[in-house]
Amino acid sequence: MAESLIHIATYSSPIEADLARARLEAEGIPAVVDNGRLLVPESAAEDAHALLTEEAADAEAAYTEASGPPAPELRCPVCGTTQVVAEPGSLLVRIALLLIGQFVPLGDQSTGRRLRCEICTYRWREGEDADGRVPSIG
Ligand SMILES: [Zn+2]
Repeated sequence: MAESLIHIATYSSPIEADLARARLEAEGIPAVVDNGRLLVPESAAEDAHALLTEEAADAEAAYTEASGPPAPELRCPVCGTTQVVAEPGSLLVRIALLLIGQFVPLGDQSTGRRLRCEICTYRWREGEDADGRVPSIG
C-alpha cells in the first residue's frame, strides 16, 4: 500500500492521540500516531475526520445535557406559574422580627424555603399551598 498519509489531527497528549487512533481502527480506518499527530491514508481522511468530529459533537451534546439547569417543581399556588424564586435571607428576616419583639417559633419556621411568585408576588413557604397559609400576625 503506497498510499500517502494525511495529517488530520494533533493531540497534546500521546494518550489522546492513541485513543483517537484506536477509535479509527475500530471503524476499520488504519491510522498512525506520530509525535502526537494522527495520520491516516489519504483515501480514509474524510471518513476519519467525520468520525472524529462526530465523536466531539456527541461528547459536547452529552455534556450540555448533563449540565443543564435542574427543572424546579415549584409552582405558585395562586396563579400556577413556575416563575417562582426562593427568597434569600429568611434567617435575617427572622432575626429582624425577633429584634422588634415579634415571637417567631423557630421549630415551625425552619422547614422549607421562603418562596415568591414573580408573576403575582404571592409569598409562601415551601411545602405549603394557598389553603395552608399561615395567617399573618396583626
Ligand atoms: Zn403567582
